[in-house]
Amino acid sequence: MSKIKVMSENMANMIAAGEVIEKCASIVKELVENAIDAGAKNIKVNLENGGIKKIEVIDDGIGMDREDAILAFSRHATSKIYKEDDLFFIETLGFRGEALASIASVSEVILETCNGQESTYVHIKGGQILDSGHSDGRIGTKITVTNLFYNTPARLKYLKTETTELNNCLQFVERLALSKTSIAFQLTNNAKVLFKTTGNNNLLKTIHEVYGLNTSRNMLEIKAFSDDFEISGFIAKPSVLKKNRLHMHTFVNGRIVRNNELNKAINDAYNTYKHEGFYPVVVINIYVDPTLVDVNIHPTKQDIKMSKINVLTELIYKTIKETLYKNLLIPNAYSLENNNSNPMEQKENYNYPEFPDSIVNIKDIPVNLEQQKLNIGYEDLTDEVNGEFKKLKLYPVGQVHKTYIIAQDETNMYIIDQHAAHERINYEMITQKFKEANVFVSQMLIPLIFELSTSDYKIFMERKDILIELGFKIEEYGINTIAIKAHPTWLKDGFEEESIRTIVDLVITKEQKFEKSKFLDNMAKMVSCKMSVKANEDLSFVEMEKLLNDLVKCDNPYNCCHGRPSIMKYSAYELEKMFRRVL
Ligand code: ZN
Ligand code: ZN
Repeated sequence: MSKIKVMSENMANMIAAGEVIEKCASIVKELVENAIDAGAKNIKVNLENGGIKKIEVIDDGIGMDREDAILAFSRHATSKIYKEDDLFFIETLGFRGEALASIASVSEVILETCNGQESTYVHIKGGQILDSGHSDGRIGTKITVTNLFYNTPARLKYLKTETTELNNCLQFVERLALSKTSIAFQLTNNAKVLFKTTGNNNLLKTIHEVYGLNTSRNMLEIKAFSDDFEISGFIAKPSVLKKNRLHMHTFVNGRIVRNNELNKAINDAYNTYKHEGFYPVVVINIYVDPTLVDVNIHPTKQDIKMSKINVLTELIYKTIKETLYKNLLIPNAYSLENNNSNPMEQKENYNYPEFPDSIVNIKDIPVNLEQQKLNIGYEDLTDEVNGEFKKLKLYPVGQVHKTYIIAQDETNMYIIDQHAAHERINYEMITQKFKEANVFVSQMLIPLIFELSTSDYKIFMERKDILIELGFKIEEYGINTIAIKAHPTWLKDGFEEESIRTIVDLVITKEQKFEKSKFLDNMAKMVSCKMSVKANEDLSFVEMEKLLNDLVKCDNPYNCCHGRPSIMKYSAYELEKMFRRVL
């Protein structure tokens, strides 16, 4: 190869590097994916300063012979391996051979590899091979990347802080570990182990290794299929929530995929089981006929396009909803306390800590991982399913602070937030009424008059049919003025005026995109809140009894319609433990 040819090739590599390699995590990604494609069962990622100083990936895969080792740094290695079209057809992560060439064009790389017959090392800097020859390695490959972006100072500036680079690497390796449970991963930074999986092909155990015991204990298994799709995995009970979407993991035929439509289906299925702005931990493996997958998407984007995506999102939505419905989800007040994690303000688990200036020692990490890893039978973890809530019979004991109801049955003591519970009951009643064909209407003695601005009036008139369908009687009453003369009977006596005012306000709320179903859901939420018993209100014994009976009949009795918890429990055993009756 002439020198000029080599130079221009390196130029191309540097340009390609700009596309693919923008942070330490992208290098980790390429190197680890190569290791997986080489059939590795153990992969170690060793970072220094979050990868900025050094990235080292060691695997026990099949290794390379000398010729391949040198060829691996050539841009044309691609064609030798796989075509991009094959990405979803084979269980490979799609080694795009040029990645290694790109990495080597903007850094210093030492490759040591052994295929059982010969051991090779290649030392390359800025795309130029400095040295190569025999090494004495064991089977597998070790790639060390240093001096990242030394020859492209502009790129160097794009690197974030050590903390951010490290977190990105950590997140990526954790996600990969969840998608490849038969591979043991380890990630260290400055020689400290931050993350480790055993690779024993048990997804729930891997979830434990990534998220800790409190999360893995609160996962529900899902499994479902349709003609074209098969899904399986675990979804978190609503008591395990996170403040960002990063913990909703979807894998399509083993590949990490981040897709808005899939995330939306997951999130929608948890509607009213959680507060807005909180997201569940979810790990779903999706298997699909590869011919349905469109691969014409930039491979680094991790997004996906597929035909029949609606069938898939519907399957995911339905499966999650059914699973939540089937399981008893009353949070255990005792273990919540003892995990120091209020469901709504749950601390992020050990894996995404707010790192202080320097990187924390694993001992400082909040969850005591080492202790928890002992003696856990992963197969038993989801056996906590107690049957359906609807079978429960709750007996009121009394009211505390005019806000909480204490109740009991044979095995548990329950604490119920009276407003949250009543709101849930009203919410399910109203949404049920929305579905019924027969509408019962109450005439109002005195019509309610609303004088609106010109623009609000215009919006109201455009949307008023939705209200008319529900049984509201609306008449024009002069300029920009309407009169409401009748309402559906489910608007409870004494609350009509307040509720109707809320509804009118909601109708004229300017939204970018008005969706009828979303509007009705919001309306049900607001009206049910208005019509419910408040905190600080006395309840008679009979009222408590009725409230508990109605709550037990709800589809989701565990949360108010805004996702706040409505019921918690202490088991008899936990009470005994608290009072040292048992040890
Ligand atoms: Zn409320
Ligand atoms: Zn609420």
